[in-house]
Amino acid sequence: MDFNNKRIELICKLKKEGYIKSGHIEQAFLKIPRENFISENFHNFAYADNPLEIGYGQTISAPHMIAIMCEELNLKKGQKILEIGSGSGYHAAIVSKIIGKDGHVFSIERISSLANFAKKNLIKSGVKNVDIIVGDGSIGFNEKAPYDRIYITCASPRIPLILIKQLKDPGKMIVPVGNVICSLTSLEKIEGKVILNNLCGCAFVPMIGKNGY
Ligand code: SAM
Repeated sequence: MDFNNKRIELICKLKKEGYIKSGHIEQAFLKIPRENFISENFHNFAYADNPLEIGYGQTISAPHMIAIMCEELNLKKGQKILEIGSGSGYHAAIVSKIIGKDGHVFSIERISSLANFAKKNLIKSGVKNVDIIVGDGSIGFNEKAPYDRIYITCASPRIPLILIKQLKDPGKMIVPVGNVICSLTSLEKIEGKVILNNLCGCAFVPMIGKNGY
């Protein structure tokens, strides 16, 4: 299978559709092979712009959703990021390339087998600046707070207050708010104030945990 051409075709489509706007985000998508983050059974669909099963009732997100979140977060080199919901590790890998080797992603996953899957996939893809931690991300990860950016990749009943506390000022966060069918909500913390913005509708698996379902 010619994954390289398929990857380029998908990136062209995401640019044409307006999901990828920035050169550094395009470069990150080019550098990370999505086929490394899914089982061989799904290799034919590695570059379809759809979520795919990764086991345990969970999914790897659709590339356009990852692009929307990366663009909205206004990621910069050297930033410290918190991801809730590692899944396959693909989204974290894309973010790791955007923030560069001086940046770091701390990613929390509640299912330990998926955390191991993500770790293996990241090693296979040569990604070194992502730490996968098993735990309940609905309470964040206070050990490494505060974060420049926080994003949740599962559906949350509300924006967890504890995560707003773990965000730097200024800082940005994205949360799919809802139960499977969600409103993708961006939050900006600036001079002690919080500004919310609804970006679009989306669908995510539920966040299970203390501040989740
Ligand atoms: N970002 C992932 C990727 O690139 O493959 C996709 C994530 S998947 C849509 C959502 C993930 O959130 C699942 O792996 C699920 O187990 C995880 N999850 C759900 N509730 C969680 C919680 N409270 N803490 C950490 N992870 C959680």
